[in-house]
Amino acid sequence: DEVLTAGADEVERAAEAALRPRRLEDFVGQEVVREQLSLVLDAARARGTAPDHVLLSGPPGLGKTTLAMIIANEAEGALRLTSGPAIQHAGDLAAILSSVQERDVLFIDEIHRLARPAEEMLYLAMEDFRVDVVVGKGPGATAIPLTLPRFTVVGATTRAGLLPAPLRDRFGFTGHLEFYSPAELEQVLHRSARLLGAPLDPEAARELASRSRGTPRIANRLLRRVQDWAQVRGTGALDLEATHGALRVFEVDGLGLDRLDRAVLRALCERFGGGPVGLTTLAVAVGEEPETVETVAEPFLVREGLVARTPRGRVATAAAYDHLGLARPDDGAL
Ligand code: ADP
Repeated sequence: DEVLTAGADEVERAAEAALRPRRLEDFVGQEVVREQLSLVLDAARARGTAPDHVLLSGPPGLGKTTLAMIIANEAEGALRLTSGPAIQHAGDLAAILSSVQERDVLFIDEIHRLARPAEEMLYLAMEDFRVDVVVGKGPGATAIPLTLPRFTVVGATTRAGLLPAPLRDRFGFTGHLEFYSPAELEQVLHRSARLLGAPLDPEAARELASRSRGTPRIANRLLRRVQDWAQVRGTGALDLEATHGALRVFEVDGLGLDRLDRAVLRALCERFGGGPVGLTTLAVAVGEEPETVETVAEPFLVREGLVARTPRGRVATAAAYDHLGLARPDDGAL
């Protein structure tokens, strides 16, 4: 089962890689972050140095990895990919750091999950371009200081607030990625369809864009499911019929909410009387990690005005009851 899942992930990753924009001009939307980045990249180019370290924050699928790749392209360096959870020991990070080359971009996904010793090593590497490599064990161990070439760290986090201030301060700037508007997602979809060699009907694009949770990754994924539907059950054309067919099969609702989103909403309304309820309790109720609920489901539910975050916990709004087709509680709680 595990092998099969890994296989499916591999296919998804490959499909995703094929649709990634490679230049800043091809990156749709996110005007603020794009302008910030283009300034930093142009300045670095003019000075002939590696760009400053960049932190990117925002929910999954909004383009953080893609931007890291674009930065590496523009800096004419190689991209090295790793993630906070993948670095178990400071030694793992030391090994990566001791092999970076001038102008390389080191992308650290989920950087807020780095272990403390690795985090401290990273401070030094980012600030002084230095790393202490420990050789040997126990009392005989010695730290050999190693000077690193100028390179760029691109950190990605689903919540910049989770990052300790000293680490956050080492970045030249933080780009906050926002959910995409339906019009921007339409652009993403048309571009992707072009790359897939399958023209997408304008009304199909409009419908898909409005059901993609403001997220390019989801838009691209749904597009491939529409392609599947068109091929197997439809006429082959990526039209409105194929779009509705695929959305129905994959249980995407009118707002674009998926299974997890609806599970969270349902638990909130039906099991906890609309809240307030704490994140951990809510996560246990839907069988997910608190971090998944907080970073994957919640941001969009909050943006759509279905859930509110209060100091006492998460609360369902009247719109949440309406969306689920449930009667609003009449105790005046809303
Ligand atoms: P993240 O790292 O934030 O989870 P990714 O960078 O992996 O997100 O993006 C997910 C997918 O969405 C990629 O396949 C990429 O092609 C697409 N994508 C993301 N942002 C954009 C954008 N601004 N324009 C076009 N495609 C995008």
